[in-house]
Amino acid sequence: MGFPTTRLRRLRQTEQLRSLVRETRLTPEAFVYPLFVCPGEGVRKEVRSMPGVFNLSVDEAVKEAQETYSLGVPAVILFGLPEKKDEVATGAWADDGIVQQAAQAIKREVPRLTMIGDVCLCEYMSHGHCGIVRAAGPQSLGAAVATPPGVGAEYEIVNDATLKLLARTSVSLARAGVDIIAPSDMMDGRVAAIRKGLDAAGLINTPILSYAAKFASGFYGPFREAADSAPQFGDRRSYQMDGANLREAMREIALDVEEGADMIMVKPAMPYLDVIAEARQRFDLPLAAYQVSGEYAMIEAAAHNGWIDRERVMMESLVSIRRAGASVILTYYAKEAARLV
Ligand SMILES: [Zn+2]
Repeated sequence: MGFPTTRLRRLRQTEQLRSLVRETRLTPEAFVYPLFVCPGEGVRKEVRSMPGVFNLSVDEAVKEAQETYSLGVPAVILFGLPEKKDEVATGAWADDGIVQQAAQAIKREVPRLTMIGDVCLCEYMSHGHCGIVRAAGPQSLGAAVATPPGVGAEYEIVNDATLKLLARTSVSLARAGVDIIAPSDMMDGRVAAIRKGLDAAGLINTPILSYAAKFASGFYGPFREAADSAPQFGDRRSYQMDGANLREAMREIALDVEEGADMIMVKPAMPYLDVIAEARQRFDLPLAAYQVSGEYAMIEAAAHNGWIDRERVMMESLVSIRRAGASVILTYYAKEAARLV
């Protein structure tokens, strides 16, 4: 039945009608708010390229966690800026690491807030890569840990040796009170290694949210300032995915599911909505998407210049991620969007 019998505009006449037939709705229960924890006390340092996002000392992170929870946002994801960095990412797995301290404090003060612990080594490595780095020259073959080579030198991010540190980090975070372990490094086999590590430590009930399809992306730029995690040489293309590959993304997700992931994630969100939609079609696990720093920074910058309506674009961007099929959205807009919906 076509026009003139059918007139789709009939249901668009008022906000009441539009709301009645709306297909996609946002709820605060689906949001996760990222927190960047740094040493010190009373520290609240704004990230230059992410207005409204801060590096927070543990005491300030607790306040932020309280506010987040009071707005109906059920979860935060924790990233750490350690005091010191080294070649074995000690700050990631040390029991007194910065995220471990924050997790203990938040668990004590906001016990019903779900804490997701991002598991990666880049923030804790002096070279800023997500795994152990080895010079690829013949002089160092066999060395599991080596001094990172200089700019332009050949190097390798060692997969299997990195897994041990990821598992160790996961156990340490879970023991500190982190509720969900979220590996973001893109090493092969990390989900299985982490599951094994958690189970061996008796943490059989700690779920894993895998950053299963994480693309090497220019949209991470501002995050690297926020988490002080830019690689000191080279880039992350030998482990993060090529943005051109949808089929490979499905293989990444399938492997993580097989290895025991409880939830899966696609990152970034807006430039990869097709990947989110395809993952929703193919997999029955809860699906998350990360609206990354560059997506946030673009909206903020354009709004700051008066070129777009900030709130409207913010909500539209979140609806698009939800409509593509993500049931959980990690976003720097979590608190603000929760106020609006
Ligand atoms: Zn990393």
